Amino acid sequence: MKKSVVSSFDVDHRTLREGLYLRSTYTINDDLSVLSWDLRFCAPMDRKPLSSGVVHTIEHLMAYYLRLDEVIGGAIVSFCPMGCQTGFYLSTMNSVSGEQIAQALTRVYNKVFPITSTEDIVGLNEIQCGNPYLYDIEQTNEAMKSYINILNK
Ligand SMILES: [Zn+2]
Repeated sequence: MKKSVVSSFDVDHRTLREGLYLRSTYTINDDLSVLSWDLRFCAPMDRKPLSSGVVHTIEHLMAYYLRLDEVIGGAIVSFCPMGCQTGFYLSTMNSVSGEQIAQALTRVYNKVFPITSTEDIVGLNEIQCGNPYLYDIEQTNEAMKSYINILNK
């Protein structure tokens, strides 16, 4: 297969499982290294992808609470959903390990979940969000529980 510019396209998604993967290292101006992590919630083609409501709810919660984490919070660059709705991209400074990310995700999960109402979804309002009517409380709780179990297996 031809090597593509976007390294995500170099992964064979037919064999990719749920989990946490270091996907790429980007070096900016020859000295700043940023890591791109693949938080794969659903194995591609294996089962239904996450719904838009679940993706949006997890984006709000993780983008906020991971930055408050005492270990990796200060090293987070961005937390973004994958357009294919099977997971998320987390970008960090290169001081962070996969083990630390798995532990931070577990800490956030234990602190924040299960969520019970829109009051629990930080930033979900017309001032801070482009579509505050898109969320899913029940399915988000299930998706997060399932992912945290995979990380801690
Ligand atoms: Zn939003």
